[in-house]
Amino acid sequence: MRRALAEVLELLACETSLWKNWSTDMEATLLGNPQENKFSLSGTCPHCARATVFMTVTSVNTEPILNPHNQVTGFRLLAGMQCQGCKRYILGIVKRDAQHQSRCEHVEYYPLGKPNDDISLEIPADIAADFKEAIRCQWIEAFKASVSMCGRALEAGCINLGADPDMKIREQIDWLASQGKITAPLKDMAHKIRLGRNRGAHPPSDGLEDITTDDADLLLEFTHDFFQHVYVMPKKLESLDLKRKAKTPTS
Ligand SMILES: [Zn+2]
Repeated sequence: MRRALAEVLELLACETSLWKNWSTDMEATLLGNPQENKFSLSGTCPHCARATVFMTVTSVNTEPILNPHNQVTGFRLLAGMQCQGCKRYILGIVKRDAQHQSRCEHVEYYPLGKPNDDISLEIPADIAADFKEAIRCQWIEAFKASVSMCGRALEAGCINLGADPDMKIREQIDWLASQGKITAPLKDMAHKIRLGRNRGAHPPSDGLEDITTDDADLLLEFTHDFFQHVYVMPKKLESLDLKRKAKTPTS
């Protein structure tokens, strides 16, 4: 029984989210004869969000790249491409070096896709809405807005878990810990989110400019982990009936 429980906890801990790992980087590769300028791109598909390879499915438009002396230093290649997973299309743009013909570099692609703000259904809807907005803000690099929404979602979570709405959020977090509703690490995590929000939401002396991409990434991750622990894990553990499984005959 102990082992089964450990496996479930490990499974929950291993849950990953696309918003955390999303990358707009692609790897470009020239295919076949360099003069044909055919290329492939590999990376995350903006349509199906899977790791995939895009192949050119149209002719390749080629434009020379000139230096200030009007010398050709490379070529910009542009083509319609198809995801080998979902079969949908993107416009891929890469750069080919004039000197080293096999050298090719990804420049950009369209559409850029959208953030995956799918989150667990166990999180109450109003709290989920704020947290989803935080994810979308992060995706467009609106970091201050993202940490503000994380703080708002956290405050709503505290009240949902029984804290007095008239208390300040600092007191709400401490109350939850004193009631054994959150563990000491979760309490620390919640205070980090609270402090991040305070820095981002109360101008002009809030240290607004100090919030970095890494800070915002971490606060989003903390908020995700907080909700996983207070809403998602308890529900999943509730649904795990080990006694019933132990009685089920094995083949
Ligand atoms: Zn796809």
